[in-house]
Amino acid sequence: MNFTAGIRRASEGIFDLLYPQICSTCGTHLFKDEVEICKLCLKRLPRTNFEKRPTDNVVSALLWGRCKVESSYSVYYYRKGERVQQLLHSLKYKSNQALGVVLGSELGKAIKSSEESFDVMVPVPLHPLKQQKRGFNQSEVIANGIQKALDIPINTNTLQRSVHTSTQTKKGRFDRWKNVESIFHLANKESLKGKHILVVDDVITTGSTMEACINTLAEIENVKISLATIACAYL
Ligand SMILES: [Zn+2]
Repeated sequence: MNFTAGIRRASEGIFDLLYPQICSTCGTHLFKDEVEICKLCLKRLPRTNFEKRPTDNVVSALLWGRCKVESSYSVYYYRKGERVQQLLHSLKYKSNQALGVVLGSELGKAIKSSEESFDVMVPVPLHPLKQQKRGFNQSEVIANGIQKALDIPINTNTLQRSVHTSTQTKKGRFDRWKNVESIFHLANKESLKGKHILVVDDVITTGSTMEACINTLAEIENVKISLATIACAYL
């Protein structure tokens, strides 16, 4: 260790003593490789175990007849006000990207254990204005975490968010459906031709965003599509 690195290490140690990083769930000190939540609390989050039945679970049932999906993965169940929702909130609205990578790598490990293989990940794109405001796309951060377990590339330039989407709250059901359908478009179909694509998002609730993504990607010749999210709502 050189002198500067030594000084840095020492000052980090002092900083840790003055401002210890603690688990936001149980309050114990975090180790260097832990972010916001300790490993023990992470283990206690409600797991879906979808990786044991990726073609037959509540998410694949939710999308049945709406779009063609090979496999679906979610690591945790999600309910408003519960821990998993708070963690995803911290990722999205407090820019806690390191936490996104930790959760993404849990998702990656779950997918790897199913022994299915994929060619490429496509994170669900954010509206460009939203991404500009937030500074990052949480789905891309999660895909980076998945890459710690699965060595496959991330494609961010083929599936694109259309800019014209207006607010959906005052529209009727049919208009809303039409609106969701036109949220996405494809920029460069050739790069995903013939691939097994893993679409990545933070959470799946009604499935309408995922359905629109998958139906847009399905326009590419000879593709297979699977999906992976950190969490899914209790369905
Ligand atoms: Zn803890």
